[in-house]
Amino acid sequence: MSAPVRTRIAPSPTGAPHLGTAYMALFNLAFARKHGGQFILRIEDTDRQRSSTESEQAIFDALRWTGIEWDEGPDCGGDFGPYRQSERLDLYEQEINRLLKQEDAYRCFCSAERLNEVRARQMAEKQTPRYDGHCLSLSAEESIKRAENEPFVVRMKIPQSGQCTFVDELREEVSIDWAQIDHQVIRKTDGFPTYHLANVVDDHHMQISHVIRGEEWISSTPKHVLLYQYFGWDAPTFAHLPLLRNPDKSKLSKRKNPTGIFYFRDAGYLPEALINYLGMMGYTLPDQREIFSLGELSDTFDLKRISLGGPIFDLAKLKWLNGRYLREKLPAEEVVERLQAWKANPDFLGKIMHLALQRLETFSDFFPLAQFLLSEQPEYDVETLCGKLSPDQPAKLLKIAEWELEKATPWDRDTLSSIFQKIAETEDIKLKQLMPLFFVAMSGSAISLPLFDGLALLGPDLTRMRLRRALEILGESGNGLSKKGLKSLEKEYASRYGNRID
Ligand code: GLU
Repeated sequence: MSAPVRTRIAPSPTGAPHLGTAYMALFNLAFARKHGGQFILRIEDTDRQRSSTESEQAIFDALRWTGIEWDEGPDCGGDFGPYRQSERLDLYEQEINRLLKQEDAYRCFCSAERLNEVRARQMAEKQTPRYDGHCLSLSAEESIKRAENEPFVVRMKIPQSGQCTFVDELREEVSIDWAQIDHQVIRKTDGFPTYHLANVVDDHHMQISHVIRGEEWISSTPKHVLLYQYFGWDAPTFAHLPLLRNPDKSKLSKRKNPTGIFYFRDAGYLPEALINYLGMMGYTLPDQREIFSLGELSDTFDLKRISLGGPIFDLAKLKWLNGRYLREKLPAEEVVERLQAWKANPDFLGKIMHLALQRLETFSDFFPLAQFLLSEQPEYDVETLCGKLSPDQPAKLLKIAEWELEKATPWDRDTLSSIFQKIAETEDIKLKQLMPLFFVAMSGSAISLPLFDGLALLGPDLTRMRLRRALEILGESGNGLSKKGLKSLEKEYASRYGNRID
């Protein structure tokens, strides 16, 4: 009898939960359900700087909103826990020591300067930058001795030549030259394992049978295959799914599309429609039907039906599907209930009322004021947007705000206020002159509810889309940023705001 099917997703709790996570979760869940197996949620939080408990909670909330459920995970337990990597450090240490003892891994004491030099030299010689194996020559005794008082990392050994060949369920054989693969660090100076080590150790110990993940991990798979060999474990079956794409075929990115799961919740999409649409990404049901539930997808799910051409995530198509759900799948009373649960509930209306009360004479004044918080995009024209600013200012300011707001945590009134103060100071413009632009981009009107409170209620995902829409409108009017203008603004921004754009 073959081993039970166990699949997993292993998101890192850094930043807002991404559509790609829901997409991977959906296919992993459908595959597990189809084969009567288990689907596991594991949190890969070995990056101490970037991981946060808020982000972890957001992953749970976002996936639950979509209707995806897991059988084992940090919040619901299971027989293979703990399901958070930061709670499994002893296990990784043990396995790393095993690799060191077997001489499949070695300590590396090279300084950052030396590594930079090697890298620069290799780049100059047009070689693939990779570790040059300097510390491979250290004897076991010397390595142990130096480790007592010097910082070090542990690297896995990689063959000098030849190829790694592995089977991908969707591609059959994949071969990658070992020369392309770096001597991967598996344990960092802070003692934490890296993704590659922890991922393999956990997939083995959690008895994962199928690793179904995004195509971007194909180039890491040789390292994983080699680790399984070093440990003497059977590797799971690999299947790398195509990545979602923007309508222009580039990799789905938040600069061009909403990519946060919460965007769809906050903009009033139905989770069933989103899941249905994600199920259509690279996949068709055997009977070609377009409207299907998670259960229907799972009942007939077959990895072989996945097509590898990059599936396009098209918001317009999703909206069309969502409309069909509203009309065909839900009774009218339920639509009303869902609408109430969305934003017509006392809690959310109460928050708006708190801001609007000063401006109300009758109830009739309420909804026009609240409208921008209850819609996906406000309407306005370019003259209103630009107000009294000079023609080159709005696009620049909107773009800078988009970049700066990426770093707004927590997303609340005070953080937002300090970000706009900083922009005003750095741009040497009065906050009062700056605000109308953002009032219009946010609400469609220069007279609206208080800006920072409004943005706080709107949330980061909807805010980002509004800034982007404003930039589009400027672009259409000829006052947008050219490619060249954007490049120079990026440079200017990096130096004046001391920030990098990811
Ligand atoms: N932690 C990885 C991520 O963030 C997991 C990749 C994998 O599924 O192996 O996507």
